[in-house]
Amino acid sequence: MASITAQSLNTGAKIPAIGFGTWQDKDSQEGAVAEALKAGYRHIDTARVYGTEPAVGAAIKKSGIPRSELFITTKLWNNSHAPADVEPALDASLKDLGLDYVDLYLMHWPSAFKPGPELMPKVDGKMQTADISYVDTYKAMEKLLKTGKTKAIGISNFSKAELEKLLAETEVVPAAHQMELHPWLQQKEFVKFNQSKGIHITQYSPFGNQNEIYDAGKNMGKLMDDPVLVEIGKKYNKSGAQVALAWGINQGHSVIPKSKTPSRIAQNLQGDFKLDASDLEKIAGIDKKLRFNDASAGFGYKFYADLDGKK
Ligand code: NAD
Repeated sequence: MASITAQSLNTGAKIPAIGFGTWQDKDSQEGAVAEALKAGYRHIDTARVYGTEPAVGAAIKKSGIPRSELFITTKLWNNSHAPADVEPALDASLKDLGLDYVDLYLMHWPSAFKPGPELMPKVDGKMQTADISYVDTYKAMEKLLKTGKTKAIGISNFSKAELEKLLAETEVVPAAHQMELHPWLQQKEFVKFNQSKGIHITQYSPFGNQNEIYDAGKNMGKLMDDPVLVEIGKKYNKSGAQVALAWGINQGHSVIPKSKTPSRIAQNLQGDFKLDASDLEKIAGIDKKLRFNDASAGFGYKFYADLDGKK
């Protein structure tokens, strides 16, 4: 089995450059993760809110792969931002995953919802938010490192100003920032900023508008069919999808494509290859600054205020 590029975290740990996304298709995820593990993936991305932690856990258990060979990420949901709720939230995730620890625990969003059992606490269709600072939530996450229940902590979906405030007011530099990033939303300045702070970037939705939930991308062609990506792919005998993944990996990022189709699961793993500098330059030219995942309206919070692709 071909080995997967390992990227480094500021903790000294390694993160496999290709991981497996598990958002949506909850009922197919145990089979999909089992297929991914069989194909050679060793990095799995889940989240409390996806409801896929039990499926990920079952697939891991059945695989028989030693825990030390796996890199497992899960995420704290917005209803558990009250500092006292943070460790119990991780405990619940670990229970569903059937694990003693995760490799990376991320704050899924900087925005807090009303604390309580409801994941989406809405009244008359309006999200019930809470006045809890992500700084206080993160400080509770910092304490988790001492418990051994997570090896590293990080963030997701932060703006530059939010990240600057976090860095100024907390101790532990996030090991990773998971964000929407692909050749149509390249965020070059923000990428540089994260890298300058020693924060590893994990690219979610690495295929851009391929996720069918993204309304914004419905009436345009698919990123993976972009002629520049397809043309570059011919040189390496790769698809546009594989070139999109390689674009991220060649910048030192990890990518977490999702699929439940065995042939695509296998194909995506072959997106780990070296692109020539001239090809990276060509891809730099197709940035459309298009963001497809923006939960601002539904979550009652203004995300990405200072970033590319804002509405
Ligand atoms: P993606 O970019 O991985 O696209 C997934 C879709 O692309 C699949 O549903 C499938 O239809 C298609 N696809 C996959 N491989 C293909 C191939 N080789 N050829 C053709 N089509 C293919 O989208 P995503 O699911 O949005 O993102 C990946 C993962 O990132 C998620 O599953 C989740 O784990 C994570 N994520 C995190 C956040 C966050 O807020 N932190 C947000 C979105 C996604």
